Amino acid sequence: MAEDKTALLEDLSKCVRCGSCKANCPTFLGDPLEPMGTRGRLVLLRGLLTGAVKPSRLLNERIFSCILCGACAGACPLGVDIPEAICQGRALLSPTDKKRRLLRPLARWSSRRPDVAFRMLRMGERLLLPFLAKRGIIPFSPELPEVPLRRSEQVFRVHKKKGRVAVFVGCSINYVFPHMGESLINVLRKFGYEVVLPHGETCCGAPLRALGLEKEAEELAEKNYRVFSRLKVEAILSLCPTCALSLKTEYPKMIGKGLDRVMDVSTFFADKLKGMDKIYRTSFYHDPCHLSYGLGVKQEPREIIRKAGLDLVGGEDQGCCGFGGLYCMSFKEISAGLLQKRTERISASAADAVVTSCPGCVLQLSRTVTDRPVLHLIELIEEAYCYRPEKQPRKEKDAESEPTLF
Ligand code: SF4
Ligand code: SF4
Repeated sequence: MAEDKTALLEDLSKCVRCGSCKANCPTFLGDPLEPMGTRGRLVLLRGLLTGAVKPSRLLNERIFSCILCGACAGACPLGVDIPEAICQGRALLSPTDKKRRLLRPLARWSSRRPDVAFRMLRMGERLLLPFLAKRGIIPFSPELPEVPLRRSEQVFRVHKKKGRVAVFVGCSINYVFPHMGESLINVLRKFGYEVVLPHGETCCGAPLRALGLEKEAEELAEKNYRVFSRLKVEAILSLCPTCALSLKTEYPKMIGKGLDRVMDVSTFFADKLKGMDKIYRTSFYHDPCHLSYGLGVKQEPREIIRKAGLDLVGGEDQGCCGFGGLYCMSFKEISAGLLQKRTERISASAADAVVTSCPGCVLQLSRTVTDRPVLHLIELIEEAYCYRPEKQPRKEKDAESEPTLF
């Protein structure tokens, strides 16, 4: 830890406090207090390392109120790795952080026994979760599927094999939205890919890292690396940008090795999909923070949406939906404020549907965007390329009888 502290202090010492990094910080834009923004947090962390600032409840609130969206990643002209500094700062502060003292053991335990945690949540789905949601202890009560997607190792074969890919399912797809995982498998097989869901996948570790549980997150990273690095596949696909970002970009910082073949579905499918005929429907694309800021993927999903025959409305401005995994439980007000802003933006666009590329964003946006469908991009791809006849000549009079996309 002493070494980590020295490296962190060295990184933070590069900061000249110019403030460029806070321009897009959503927590600062919502509450323009210096310590609620990127630069303020870095100054506090540096103070903590030099001893000028002592650990306190307020300091914890400032450092943990960062939603880890990554809007500041790469924004520093002097190369300070800001999200990494925040994560390391949280690891230093976690022993004194009382507010999340119950969340930590819970997250640690459920990341080790996710299937047991899922079964317990299923048992509490009817009474306990709605009760907790009503009391404001959790922000909402999710609808859970009867069974998760992943069991033991599963291989989905195809007749004329074009290639072989693995899927990193991730917890939100596995335990909340398994139908999205099924859509991905369905689309991949339609395109001639054998699909592997290897035995031994575990949580990517991002929720633990966000709570300051660095060692536990590293253990999970090691496990996933062992499972996925041995596979003979051309790509490892993930429907969750947070998982993809962790496996590809964060693991090298955490355990010194990453999974280079990881990619999100829009990057994988961008050059494989052909254009479809227009169906006169409009869509608003919501950029998930970890996909756009973290992995730099912005145009590929839009290209796919256009190819699927939808007109994009609402421009390309970006805003965090406020989900942030466990963040929406720790900072309910900030999370709700960010969600409200995003909902207003979507409503103003008058789009028929909202498309995004992250199960967490779907979960969060569906809470307030109730007048139109909120879809994961893979559901759109499946609908457009697996269920609609390809290249059918479209006539104007067919517009009303068109099989509905949503
Ligand atoms: S990660 Fe996001 S919330 Fe955190 S400091 Fe950077 S911009 Fe702000
Ligand atoms: S952009 Fe870099 S130098 Fe400027 S305040 Fe942020 S971290 Fe410091």
